[in-house]
Amino acid sequence: MRNLVVAEHDGTHLRSASLSCLTFAKMVASVTNSDVAWLVLGHGVEDVAAEAANYVPVIAVDSPALAHPLAEPFSQVIAYVARARRIDVLSAATSTFAKDILPRAAALLGGTMASDVVRHELVDGQLQCDCPQYAGAVTATLRLTGSPQIATVRASAYPAAQAMDSQAHAVEQLQVVPAMLTARAQYEGLKSKQKSRPDVTEARVVVSGGRALKNSQDFERLVGQLADVLGGAAGCSRALVDAGITPNELQVGQTGKIVAPELYVALGISGAVQHLAGMKNSRTIVAVNSDPEAPIFEVADYGLVGDVYTVVPELIEKLQYHAACATG
Ligand SMILES: Cc1cc2nc3c(=O)[nH]c(=O)nc-3n(C[C@H](O)[C@H](O)[C@H](O)COP(=O)(O)OP(=O)(O)OC[C@H]3O[C@@H](n4cnc5c(N)ncnc54)[C@H](O)[C@@H]3O)c2cc1C
Repeated sequence: MRNLVVAEHDGTHLRSASLSCLTFAKMVASVTNSDVAWLVLGHGVEDVAAEAANYVPVIAVDSPALAHPLAEPFSQVIAYVARARRIDVLSAATSTFAKDILPRAAALLGGTMASDVVRHELVDGQLQCDCPQYAGAVTATLRLTGSPQIATVRASAYPAAQAMDSQAHAVEQLQVVPAMLTARAQYEGLKSKQKSRPDVTEARVVVSGGRALKNSQDFERLVGQLADVLGGAAGCSRALVDAGITPNELQVGQTGKIVAPELYVALGISGAVQHLAGMKNSRTIVAVNSDPEAPIFEVADYGLVGDVYTVVPELIEKLQYHAACATG
């Protein structure tokens, strides 16, 4: 059984979610006694390919046609490589990128697909996967009976693969003819704010704010600053996105991002099921809420009943003091 993992990257480095997907693929490979390789796609991706080669062999397709992550050319190249290499299991980390691209590749390949896998086993050589649905209210167990088998894998469900200490693996460059890639969408531009903090899906600490935060200045002063002091990412509930206080990319939850950091701090978030769906697997959950009955306290390891406008500035001050003492 041959396993191919589509690497997600920022043009320079692998996203850590892809390393969790690699663990999934290696687990499948260890049971089926088979190989795993990365597929690195993009333009000018030598650095990513070199980093990926620290884990398993790499197939890299570097082409101007892949300079932007447009779903059509990407899925066509993935399908082309999967067919050419007779791939049995094709996977990628669950993400906005993979949600757009892998189902298209699956359709081109005539394959069978499971989305957002959190557990798997091999039954008679076929992947059987647990996939949470309806914000985790139910879990579907799917047996993939077709070929190739395709999966998006929830990063929080698998630990990140570790790089090998020994020599790096081979990087094989594959060429594609841009003319063979059809695209009915054309890249016109990207508006992106300069980010000083990590993405919520990548950070070891996530500090999230909810409706308790009244405006973007308060969000930045309380949530943003606490995230900075803890060296983490800032996230939010959908209430703040809907109110235009925070950008969509910070939203954690069923229709936002799924996170499982070492520490998740929920500030003024009630704990609606749709929010919990995105963060309940965090290792340690701390909640601050003025309502002692707030559902967030049911999943919190540490809860503090209080006003975020009072508690958080004190917390920031104390953490800054300790950080200053620690550095002498
Ligand atoms: C299909 C669907 C998908 C959804 N997807 C998502 C999703 O991905 N992510 C998501 O977050 N939501 C999602 N929602 C919305 C979700 O149902 C909730 O409405 C939302 O999570 C509520 O956000 P909140 O906890 O910030 O606000 P609220 O529920 O209004 O809670 C605010 C909390 O702040 C506390 N509070 C108020 N003032 C203070 C203060 N000064 N100090 C301390 N505490 C205070 C209150 O006690 C309360 O518990 C979805 C809903 C639907 C229907």
